[in-house]
Order: sequence, then structure tokens, then C-alpha cells
Amino acid sequence: MPEENNCIFCKIVKKEISTNIIYESENFICFPDKNQKVKGHSLIVPKKHFVNLMDMPSELGSELLFDIKEIAANEMKKGATGFNILQNNFSDAGQAINHAHIHIMPRYKNDGFKLCV
Ligand code: 5GP
Ligand code: ZN
Repeated sequence: MPEENNCIFCKIVKKEISTNIIYESENFICFPDKNQKVKGHSLIVPKKHFVNLMDMPSELGSELLFDIKEIAANEMKKGATGFNILQNNFSDAGQAINHAHIHIMPRYKNDGFKLCV
């Protein structure tokens, strides 16, 4: 069975699982992470099933960057004063869901969130 048949993010893309879609473009959708590490924590994912960044065509990079900036700008309009983007590739780097995704994490002064880099 192809991996995407059992992929939770493919199910969200196909609207088989009801999720609040924050943002949508030709090739990406963005929705809230179910485990909000910070207020407004969201995930942007390609509509096609790519396993991680290495599997994703580089041609999508410019649309992805544009979309991230749109989503982050919306959060900053709502009051965030910064944001982090985070992307895990392969299990040893903490990737739990094998459908490429980027975390967008709005930040607020003294929000207490510690990013270890
Ligand atoms: P990773 O460690 O792979 O970068 O992060 C996967 C993220 O997906 C986690 O932050 C987790 O909370 C989120 N997640 C896992 N399953 C679901 C789901 O069914 N719905 C949503 N909205 N987020 C999910
Ligand atoms: Zn998938």
C-alpha cells in the first residue's frame, strides 16, 4: 500500500479529517498543530505526499517561502512580535510524521518558549 494511503497529513489535505485550514495556496496548506507549543503554532505542508525536504522538488521553494511569509505576517498583524520556523527531517532529527512539514511558531515577548539551537 502506498505510504500516503495511511498518512494523517494526506487525510487532512484531502479533507477526510476536518481541520481548520488557516491558509491555502496552489501547492500547500497550513493548519494548526494539534499540540500547540506556542500560541498560533501551525504547520505548512505540501498538498502532495513528499516524505521530507529531500523528497520535495526545489521548484516549490519559492511558493513555500512566499506562503510562510504570508502566514507569519498574519500572525504579526494579530500581535506576534516575532516567529520561528522549524523543520525536522528523518527520525533522528525528530521527524515524527513522514509527510514534509514546516512548523511556524509565532513568538511574543517573554512567552517562555525555549528553542534549543
Ligand atoms: P515533527 O516532529 O514530525 O516535526 O512534528 C509533527 C507535528 O505534527 C507535531 O508537532 C504534532 O503535534 C503534529 N501532529 C501530529 N498529528 C497531527 C494531527 O493529526 N493533526 C495536527 N493538526 N497535527 C498533528
Ligand atoms: Zn502524506
